[in-house]
Amino acid sequence: MSEGALDVDWARRFVAEAAAVVAEHRVELSELDRLIGDGDHGENLARGFSAVTAAMEPAEPATVGDVLKLVATTLMSTVGGAAGPLYGTAFLRAAKVTAVPAVDAQGVHSLLDAALEGVVARGKAQVGDKTMVDAWHPAVEAASAAAEAGSSPAQVLRAAAEAAAVGAASTDDLVALKGRASYLGERSVGHRDPGAASTVLLLDAAARAAT
Ligand code: ADP
Ligand code: MG
Ligand code: MG
Repeated sequence: MSEGALDVDWARRFVAEAAAVVAEHRVELSELDRLIGDGDHGENLARGFSAVTAAMEPAEPATVGDVLKLVATTLMSTVGGAAGPLYGTAFLRAAKVTAVPAVDAQGVHSLLDAALEGVVARGKAQVGDKTMVDAWHPAVEAASAAAEAGSSPAQVLRAAAEAAAVGAASTDDLVALKGRASYLGERSVGHRDPGAASTVLLLDAAARAAT
């Protein structure tokens, strides 16, 4: 395994960081969702990640995928709404390609690519529809480029998180074509997609857990 590979301890730190950052931004995420949806995105995710924290405590994961699978199943059963199945499927797909004790830079790219595929398989959104796909897609592209360039796993995650932030900001000017926000049509313009915003928080948590 190459230098700086991300192991089960990284995955555990990621879960802890994600739970903390989601709790911290709970009100802000729900406020974004109040503007173009039903105002529950922050509550949904905070409930989910506190259940994930509880589920992690007694767990004895042997692989990165074991951790991601526990996240997936817990989010699916506790988050509800659109985000529960979307993030649940993303983590489940990511778990399937990380059934190993540690992941290298290419493995991080594969993990993120699988997560994006899960979101798209479940939600059928394309780039430009003003959803979390607008954050995930550029994140995967950046991860691919960084891994090809010989970056460390931590650097691949950092590149992905930064690209996701740019992608999330791009949703401000878009008309929502999927999810609840699409009911608003043109009136969704001028607001950031909450799922794109939470995607940035999760990828940033993953990057911070790696350094
Ligand atoms: P709900 O809209 O059911 O209340 P949440 O508020 O938890 O669920 O999540 C809303 C987020 O889910 C949106 O901001 C968007 O990013 C994402 N989303 C909704 N529908 C889709 C879809 N079809 N594809 C991808 N992402 C979607
Ligand atoms: Mg909502
Ligand atoms: Mg809802």
